[in-house]
Amino acid sequence: MFAKKRFLKLVLGAALLGGVSMPSAQAANGDNIGVAMPTKSSQRWIDDGNNIVKLLQTKGYKPDLQYADDDIPTQLAQIENMLTKGVKVLVVASIDGTTLGDVLSKASERGVKVIAYDRLIRGTPNVDYYATFDNFKVGVQQATSIVDALGLKDGKGPFNIELFGGSPDDNNAYFFYDGAMSVLKPYFDAKKLVVRSGQFGMDKVSTLRWDSATAQARMDNLLSAFYGNARLDAVLSPYDGISTAIISSVKGFGYGSGGLKLPVISGQDAESQSIKSIIAGEQTATVFKDTRELARVTVAMIDAIEAGRQPEINDSKTYNNGKKVVPSYLLTPVIVTKDNWKSALVDTGYYTLEQLK
Ligand code: BGC
Repeated sequence: MFAKKRFLKLVLGAALLGGVSMPSAQAANGDNIGVAMPTKSSQRWIDDGNNIVKLLQTKGYKPDLQYADDDIPTQLAQIENMLTKGVKVLVVASIDGTTLGDVLSKASERGVKVIAYDRLIRGTPNVDYYATFDNFKVGVQQATSIVDALGLKDGKGPFNIELFGGSPDDNNAYFFYDGAMSVLKPYFDAKKLVVRSGQFGMDKVSTLRWDSATAQARMDNLLSAFYGNARLDAVLSPYDGISTAIISSVKGFGYGSGGLKLPVISGQDAESQSIKSIIAGEQTATVFKDTRELARVTVAMIDAIEAGRQPEINDSKTYNNGKKVVPSYLLTPVIVTKDNWKSALVDTGYYTLEQLK
């Protein structure tokens, strides 16, 4: 019995050493690794790319990092090109999660392993692993930040809220929305939260390509059409870039001055401009997803693949892509408000104080 336990401990210890927290020092043989990122229009993807490249280089891989300017044909061409160059592993943060079937069939024919990065790749069996955050929880946290700021748990209300969703071609957007609705629904049912526009559901509230200008125009329209003589108290926003656009829109309608308070507004990604806005008392909250951790998990997966081991995963049931359930590693997101931005972002070294001034 003792020997068995000891053996188990040794095996577990070895697994941990090769796992996420301490990636193995496996020789990388200079293999080429393709890293396809969607866009540079948001800070998070720039950080993601830089973090992965840095880690891959430290371990002796040759990363090929490409950004596709949110253009689907560009991303397809970049991935084709990576295959031609002989990458061993492809890491893909897709623009449209459903358009990669053909190019990933080619990857599979060549024995190239595919890791979906942050966003699930859908409709193909040729995606091997998924590294991401707990996306449902992100939505829960976004809605929780609104519930807390409005004091709904203390029985305050009713309040007027409008809902914004992410891009309809990004699987994450549905998880964020569903997570948020799981928290907000009881308040809608109790009429403590009211959507004056009546616009519910991703088919009505989504924002193609997470585009700020699209969101700002929608907010302008909603304010003109439904808030002539009513106050908007809160906005569910799925991403910091959209939160910034919404704040601009509401300011244009007089919110934030003359005694008309800005609405409570959520966000995501802890982008520096949004943290500054939180510190200034404008945006209410964001959700911090540590891109350094996501890079570490992804590179640990690559190390395992290269060494012929199974990568460490912690979820094998949530992410069905229409063809298979993709084995996933989910990281934990963190709500950031004016109360904890320093401990969450500065003490952890994600930002310097200087960057948030
Ligand atoms: C990511 C979010 C990001 C959004 C817009 C989503 O897929 O998970 O972190 O805010 O895309 O770039």
